[in-house]
Amino acid sequence: MWNFPKIIQNFDTTEKCISFAEEEGLILKSKLCRTHRIPMLVSLSDRSTVGIFRCRKGACRKRTAVSRSSGTWFENAKIPLPQIFYIMFAFASHWSHSQVRKNSFIKEPILSSATICDWYNYCREAVVLYQVDHQVAVGKIGGPGKIVQIDESKFGKRKYNKGRRVEGHWGLGMVEDGSDDLRLEVCPDNVRSAEVLIPLIQRHVLQGSIICTDCWKAYDCLSSHGYEHRRVNHSDPENPFVAEDGTHTQRIESQWRVIKRFFLKDNYNNSEDFSNLIYEYVWRKNVANQHHDPFVKLLDAIKHTFKP
Ligand SMILES: [Zn+2]
Repeated sequence: MWNFPKIIQNFDTTEKCISFAEEEGLILKSKLCRTHRIPMLVSLSDRSTVGIFRCRKGACRKRTAVSRSSGTWFENAKIPLPQIFYIMFAFASHWSHSQVRKNSFIKEPILSSATICDWYNYCREAVVLYQVDHQVAVGKIGGPGKIVQIDESKFGKRKYNKGRRVEGHWGLGMVEDGSDDLRLEVCPDNVRSAEVLIPLIQRHVLQGSIICTDCWKAYDCLSSHGYEHRRVNHSDPENPFVAEDGTHTQRIESQWRVIKRFFLKDNYNNSEDFSNLIYEYVWRKNVANQHHDPFVKLLDAIKHTFKP
């Protein structure tokens, strides 16, 4: 069996999971009765995974029952809490679905593929919302005199037997020299024209930045939008990778290879799935760069998104 870290071994009973969720602020420890203005009691019943609040006063006791899970991460949970924490741990560890089933120390109920998929999507949504807000809080990259490499790449373009084709999605990547703060965007409607790319660049890159791109024509108007623009011409037989003035886009281009390996694990059929995976990738990259514990950071993301 998988040798689980201590943190997940603590999630083997519902009671332990509930007290952990209380300590972490994922659920409320108490709530006031609206009528009596006194704290209600928690009762654990099988009506709700994390229990219900009930007033202790007379008739109110029968009338008032408030689910403790509503508005929380555990709302609509249909599997036992130890399973939920186990799947959260697996998501944070970036396990495949088959690893989730193989490593599970909880024998019953057996996790279905659909359940794992649902909870992975919930985790991903929390991470995406956290990452979007985090980028807004950090602000734009670049600035006067700073170099930002920008490149676009197509993901998921595949040709199957019998001629079936998957068109793939255009993504735009931006990274400042000397920084690990990678910004990725999905091109709306799968178009990479100037009308699409310039607003995406303006969302992430400060005016005055020196932007390095290849010779894709959509970038031609960058200098009329307050950026200094330098190009590397990949079809220049003399200097296909680094222009004479030193301009190159190799950092962002090498990122594409890493990202495409990351995406092999997952299915994404539409641009919304793809967009979420892109944010998940950036979140995982930041967690790894900063040597954080991914499970702790997943809890942070969940707490950020679900406030009971
Ligand atoms: Zn009451």
